[in-house]
Amino acid sequence: MSRRAKSIQPSATLSISSKAKELAKQGKPVIDMSVGEPDFITPKHIIDAAIEALNEGRTFYTPTRGIPELVDAIIDWARQRGMDAGVENVIVTPGAKYAIFEAIMATIEEGDEVILLDPSWVSYEPCVQMADGRVVWVPHNEGFEDAPIEDYVTSKTKMIVVNSPSNPLGVVYPKEFLKKVRDIAIDNNVLVLSDEIYDRIVFEGEFTSIARFDGMQERTILINGFSKTYAMTGWRLGFAIAPEEITKHMLRIQSHSVSHPTSFVQYAGVAAFKGDQKCVEEMVAEFRVRRDILREGLDEMGLRYAPPEGAFYMFVDVGRDSMTFCQELLEKEYVAATPGSAFGKAFSTWIRLSYATSRQNICKAIDRLGNLIKCTS
Ligand code: PMP
Ligand code: GLU
Repeated sequence: MSRRAKSIQPSATLSISSKAKELAKQGKPVIDMSVGEPDFITPKHIIDAAIEALNEGRTFYTPTRGIPELVDAIIDWARQRGMDAGVENVIVTPGAKYAIFEAIMATIEEGDEVILLDPSWVSYEPCVQMADGRVVWVPHNEGFEDAPIEDYVTSKTKMIVVNSPSNPLGVVYPKEFLKKVRDIAIDNNVLVLSDEIYDRIVFEGEFTSIARFDGMQERTILINGFSKTYAMTGWRLGFAIAPEEITKHMLRIQSHSVSHPTSFVQYAGVAAFKGDQKCVEEMVAEFRVRRDILREGLDEMGLRYAPPEGAFYMFVDVGRDSMTFCQELLEKEYVAATPGSAFGKAFSTWIRLSYATSRQNICKAIDRLGNLIKCTS
């Protein structure tokens, strides 16, 4: 096998979730709080648009960049957020994950350093490794809303990855922190990959896109997608907005690998962006209620966690080895959670709980978590 493939491990989030599904199939009362996947059915008008596209015969190859209708909808979306994007800046991909993979493959090579905040989502590091780059982990400050990135920039730094709201933290980074990242990026001629996939799922604070700051559009690769906002994980639809030179090279990779995202799925994406946004508001309101239930339960157990301001994760310190803890939580209490060690270097006693599951499941999970904490403390 290639060094490239051997250098990475399977995605922890997806493997734990598969294990949970297997146990559920065996009839065990599993509650899956491992994977970050909305449990809502995709809104009907989006499903209908895909069916209509199929019935109309939209079953052929599409342009590599994506269908013009969706590219235009993305340009409109960017305009509404104060950004000025043209067709040449947009690429539609099969999931945001593939946009990240292509962006890193297009820009990073041997010798390049990529700054990741510790903890960060599980797939950034493997993408950098596959591109032969080197990850430099930067710890967060107390409170998780700042990080001393400036101390870790070297002449080899090529990219800083920012993910706000953050997976796994749930933190929405304050404007001051993003402005600091902007200054560092501009002063050191560094790219920023801004993964904004949770931008609409915000409960506290205000989401700010770093791409909107002066001088940033020309060095930002903005990543977003439909999985989380519109409950469309299985559809595989995401996109990037980036400087033309970067999308040009991402397109080359896309044209020789997946060609483009599935044709009729792209029509569903147009319906998602152009249709009524009430479905998003309803889902976000429900996530908020679920977060409050989980937070209250964790408070009662006296557990410490990162400020849960957005996305649908709580990152919790359980005070003991999280690999063993998660294994016991699944095997004894049938609750699947992701160990903190999957997200970086400094969180071996933390776990991530995804509250993209029903209120009832969250209540049950709190009781079961309490059982394990009581019997192991
Ligand atoms: N970025 C982050 C931070 C995520 O949590 C996810 C979840 N899958 C993705 C990107 C990729 O999303 P998708 O490929 O489903 O669009
Ligand atoms: N992003 C989600 C998570 O972190 C989905 C799984 C994945 O793609 O990693 O759980």
